[in-house]
Amino acid sequence: MDILKNQDPEVFDSILSEERRQRDELELIASENYTSAAVMEAVGSVLTNKYAEGLPGRRYYGGCQYVDQVERLAIDRVKSLFGSEHANVQPHSGASANQAVYYASLEIGDSVLAMDLAQGGHLTHGMKLNFSGRWYPTIGYGVDPKTERIDYDRLASLAREHKPKLILAGASAYPRIIEFERIAEVAREIGATFFVDMAHIAGLVAAGLHPNPVPVADFVTTTTHKTLRGPRGGVVLCKEERAKKLDSAVFPGLQGGPLMHVIAGKAVCFGEALKPEFKTYAAQVIANANTLAEELTRAGFRLVSGGTDNHLILIDMTSKGLTGKIGEAALGRAGITVNKNLIPFDKRKPMDPSGVRVGTPALTTRGMREDAIRQVAAWIITVLAAPDDEAVAKRVSGEIEEFARDYPVPAAALGR
Ligand code: PLP
Repeated sequence: MDILKNQDPEVFDSILSEERRQRDELELIASENYTSAAVMEAVGSVLTNKYAEGLPGRRYYGGCQYVDQVERLAIDRVKSLFGSEHANVQPHSGASANQAVYYASLEIGDSVLAMDLAQGGHLTHGMKLNFSGRWYPTIGYGVDPKTERIDYDRLASLAREHKPKLILAGASAYPRIIEFERIAEVAREIGATFFVDMAHIAGLVAAGLHPNPVPVADFVTTTTHKTLRGPRGGVVLCKEERAKKLDSAVFPGLQGGPLMHVIAGKAVCFGEALKPEFKTYAAQVIANANTLAEELTRAGFRLVSGGTDNHLILIDMTSKGLTGKIGEAALGRAGITVNKNLIPFDKRKPMDPSGVRVGTPALTTRGMREDAIRQVAAWIITVLAAPDDEAVAKRVSGEIEEFARDYPVPAAALGR
């Protein structure tokens, strides 16, 4: 990055610092990952210069013959990855993809049944300050207080009582398998559109390690940057009969020109996810999450729902007399990045909740397996046993920097 370094040292220095952070510390944010160098090159390519409003073969600009090839590749690959009839790869993000589904299937004022934000849902699933909660009256379902797993019976009775136009499944902080078929059955019974947001688990679905919602849902959205390990962005999948409405919701409904460099990165990511190695990666993500869950449980932490089936774990910090805010800060000082998170039926506030959410997609991309994850767990346990001890944090962060050298970040320009 010599050109950037010389032309704009301020921006360069910040990028360099972030690259060092990613390289020398441990990333346990469940929604983050490291892209391959090939994805990074595609996103950093000349395709950022091109306007391409419309769809491949039907653009409002000339000179689109090559970006058409790229977008067709992205569409064909993601359709075959998930077995979908139709795909739109243009949404700029997961939130934009979700907005497109609302726009394509509802009128303002239509009601929605979705997982409560406080129980693991996402803010685009009806939070009051978000467009979704502001324009679409939303009824929340959640988990059973004992098992902390989705209460499917209550979901069904809420659906029968309120008759929402749309039922939304999917979550940002739910560590268990979601039984899409059961929810689809309820949607069919009441004649509601069934929409699944699989942003967190898409990589596991692609690998065949989580039930695929595509055959049973009317619309499925995902981000491309979480377990799927691509560039930041969104995608919507749907049946052919919904394709026209969806495409016109994305453009001209909500967006102008698509980000063709990001679509190129998505095409590369889908190509990678179609390879057998990706299955091995996704299986290791789950194995690592299980190992981390076992170690934390052995050390006396209570985990929401008692463990995990996927890539993430919700730790109830109050089981050790701590809070999410204290945990996030203490681990951060030691070079372990996590995020504080509400747990189901939390009595605390979102800015200082009871939980910490951790996930293994990023560490697994660096090549960590069970032994390495046991070491990571040991550091987490050590730091949380003395959350105010600066000396412990300093010692652990030094050990992590050394340890991290054996697990390179795929697309770092810096090297060592
Ligand atoms: N849907 C779910 C389930 C998510 O967890 C997220 C982000 O964390 C999104 C949608 C939104 O994605 P983005 O941040 O790309 O808008």
